[in-house]
Amino acid sequence: MQRLVVLGAGESGVGTAILGKKEGFEVFVSDKGEIKKEYKEVLEHIEIEWEEKQHSEARILNADLVMKSPGIPDTVPLVLQLVAMGIPVISEIEFATRYTKAEIIGITGSNGKTTTTMLTHHLVKNGGSHVGMAGNIGDSFAKMVAENDFSQYVLEISSFQLDGIVDFKPKIAIITNITPDHLDRYNYKFENYIASKFRIAMNQDSNDYLIYDADDEVIVSWLKSNPIQSKLVPFSLQSAQKFGAWVENGMIKIKVEPKTFEMSTDILALDGQHNVKNAMAAGLASLLVNVRKETIRQSIQTFQGAPHRLEKVLKINHVEYINDSKATNVNATYYALEGVKKPIVWIVGGVDKGNDYSSLMPMVREKVKAIICLGMDNSKLKDTFGNVMDFMVEAFSMEEAVKMAYKIGERGDTVLLSPACASFDLFQNYEDRGDQFKAAIRKL
Ligand code: ADP
Repeated sequence: MQRLVVLGAGESGVGTAILGKKEGFEVFVSDKGEIKKEYKEVLEHIEIEWEEKQHSEARILNADLVMKSPGIPDTVPLVLQLVAMGIPVISEIEFATRYTKAEIIGITGSNGKTTTTMLTHHLVKNGGSHVGMAGNIGDSFAKMVAENDFSQYVLEISSFQLDGIVDFKPKIAIITNITPDHLDRYNYKFENYIASKFRIAMNQDSNDYLIYDADDEVIVSWLKSNPIQSKLVPFSLQSAQKFGAWVENGMIKIKVEPKTFEMSTDILALDGQHNVKNAMAAGLASLLVNVRKETIRQSIQTFQGAPHRLEKVLKINHVEYINDSKATNVNATYYALEGVKKPIVWIVGGVDKGNDYSSLMPMVREKVKAIICLGMDNSKLKDTFGNVMDFMVEAFSMEEAVKMAYKIGERGDTVLLSPACASFDLFQNYEDRGDQFKAAIRKL
């Protein structure tokens, strides 16, 4: 029996264990931290051995194959030792792909992965396919492969998951955009992170497609110096583009020979230029897998988006409250400020990941009337925006921030929570932050 060791017992670890067991491996799950109760129950139910709060090295180093969860860096000594011994260390995406023949649409990028994944899934599903959605969203890919027989998958894939692929080969890959993120895991070298994102196309051949943002200079310059096999399909907000997808006179236009498609940007259910891009990427992918044009048009029009991403919460006294708690970096917040109606009362702050706020300055000058800083340490925000803002205050709980916003907000204003920061100083995670925002609004 082949011995599979699973390092890390989160969603992807437990999914791998389930699939490994089904495929006849002797599976051992090891987690250095505490394993969630519901995951322990699953492992026990299918009789898989597990350990927590430790790694039994001798047993782990005796594996034939190791699946490393995405949260574990490549540099931990145990992983280095496995690699030095020549034991294959792969990601859950790689493991799962070995046990399915389904056609794959794989989506990566720094921002917009979840939105584009959900939208693409919505379009392909409405097109009549038996299609699953997995990866960095909801259930793991491995669990889906073990328990379903989907003929297609739309997968959201992080760079950490791509780092552990060997043969993974999506029919269609999408790179939404690339801006600096997670550099602590990439030796503080942006080029390493870029290379990691492009791994999504590394096994593609000339029958496969890579859909990418042609307005993103990082992506374009990488493609110039690193030729790849895939058919390149660009999307762009510029009308100069005449292949792939572009915007011209308020219309999204798509052309991938021999197909063409167009629809007005006005009827998109989601706001913001970034969502026009996400719609172009999803529209391209679904056209390439033969979803009918009318289905694409109607489905884009009805798609409501994911919670915590420019989510409209309530209107109170003609002031709109929008929850963009998922904006954990500056680029995501840029698009939020661009996409919502001014004047904006902006709630921002949290754990700064080395942010450079200067790209937001023009937008802040033009659209923001007040800033409410919500973090343990707001010094950088105060240094950056203190001089240009007439109104800037600090809050130390979400309830306090929302009450302040309520006092400041006047008819026609938008109150926007778009933190540009991680949430761990005052909240459990971005969902908790967004949920507390919504709860505080409902109490007003
Ligand atoms: P991810 O899964 O990559 O984190 P999400 O779809 O969850 O992406 O969106 C994360 C944040 O980025 C949200 O605040 C959202 O409004 C913003 N966003 C969504 N799409 C894009 C895009 N194409 N470019 C930049 N920001 C985006």
